[in-house]
Formats: sequence, structure tokens, C-alpha cells
Amino acid sequence: MQQTVTTLEVEAQVQPEMEIESRRVRVGLLGGTFNPPHLGHLVIGEQVARQLGLEKVYFMPNAIPPHVDRKEAIATVDRVKMVQAAIQGNSLFELELAEVERGGVSYAYDTLLTLLQKHPDYEYYFIIGADEVAYLSTWYRVDELMRLTHFVGVNRPGVPAPKSEFSIQFVTVPDLDISSTNLRQRIAHHESVRYLVPDLVAAYIFERGLYQDDDRN
Ligand code: ATP
Ligand code: MG
Repeated sequence: MQQTVTTLEVEAQVQPEMEIESRRVRVGLLGGTFNPPHLGHLVIGEQVARQLGLEKVYFMPNAIPPHVDRKEAIATVDRVKMVQAAIQGNSLFELELAEVERGGVSYAYDTLLTLLQKHPDYEYYFIIGADEVAYLSTWYRVDELMRLTHFVGVNRPGVPAPKSEFSIQFVTVPDLDISSTNLRQRIAHHESVRYLVPDLVAAYIFERGLYQDDDRN
């Protein structure tokens, strides 16, 4: 896969007159709070990349999520380190720090403008779970956003298959009933999260004593 990106980049340099469409690099974008990242995130990234033939999937932790979270997310630096740990070992996966570096409320519309400026040859496939599909109409400047990126919806256990007014491509993934909310509760209640989060993520959580305090979950 890396090989293909490199070849495309080289071609883009030596043949600037080439049609823009023919040197588009198709990449996935998986945005989230990742509080913490879990196997559900990794499986949807892998499945969408393989099923749609994407070159890469960029995991993008947000700074402040646009919707009001019931409880505040833990420090950004910890979420970034956990995402880094989670994607380690999969050459399809990369970290995208655009939202963290920009800071403030992470509106996808602003992010896509920044990303497309930085990577004009990237064709983005924004991956969202069924719960997010249902809320898409509330996203900031969603109509304009639809012109900046494709959207890929995936099934999520406990969420009815969504119908959307927007043009969304659906990809079926194995159902994994895992959520960060449930993981935070498990950790606070000293229940096992083994095989629900990657081992390196679990190690980081326990080393740093994250999510131990019930009140924050
Ligand atoms: P929280 O419970 O804190 O909201 P989460 O598990 O939903 O956490 P997010 O970081 O909010 O994790 O999710 C990022 C993206 O991944 C969202 O689009 C979400 O719908 C999707 N997603 C997360 N877990 C799953 C899952 N198990 N199956 C399908 N999609 C998922
Ligand atoms: Mg969520």
C-alpha cells in the first residue's frame, strides 16, 4: 500500500499536467474522541480500508468535540498517546493531528478545509458509526462538508440501521459491542477490558491510572 502512495506522489511530481482525478489518493479519516480507543475503532478502520481499497486510514483525535459530552474527556495528550499505541503495527493506519493542533471545538468542516489544503491530492472517506450517521444533520455546515469528503457509514450494535437524507456509502463490518463509555465504566468498576482494547492501550491506562475515578465516567 505504501508503495502505491509513493508511486502516485512521484507521478504527481513528474507529470504535473496529469488529470487531477487520476492522481487522487483515496484515504479514510476516522475522527473521534478516542476516550479511550478500542477494538471497535480498529475493526471499522481495517474493514473500510480493505473493502473500499483505501491507501490509508487516518485516525484523528478531536480537541473539543462539537457535541456536548456528558463528561469531559481526559487530557488530549493521553488520548493521542493511546491512539498511537492502538494503531501501532498496522501499516494502513496513521495518526492525524490536525484537530489537536488547531485546538478549540473540532468542526469537521474546518478540519477538511485544512486537510485538503495540506493534501490537495487526497480524496477523503470520512468513516462514521451508525450513531453518528443519525446525527449528521446537526453537524456544522454539513451540506458544504458533503462537498469536501465522502461519508462512509458502518453498522454499530444497539443502533438501528440508519436512513439518511445524505448520500452515504454503507460498509458492513463485524458487530463489536464496544464503546468508550462502557470501557470507562468497566475500568472504574475494576472490570476486565482485556481483548476490548489493544494490550498497549490497557497498559497505558493502568500505568497512568486513567478512568479510575467513577465521577468522571
Ligand atoms: P463514546 O462512548 O465516548 O462516545 P465511542 O465508542 O463512540 O465513545 P468515539 O471516539 O466517539 O468512540 O467514536 C469515533 C467513531 O467511531 C464514531 O463515528 C463512532 O460511531 C465509531 N465507533 C466507535 N465504536 C464503534 C463500534 N463498536 N462499532 C461501530 N462504530 C464505532
Ligand atoms: Mg461516540
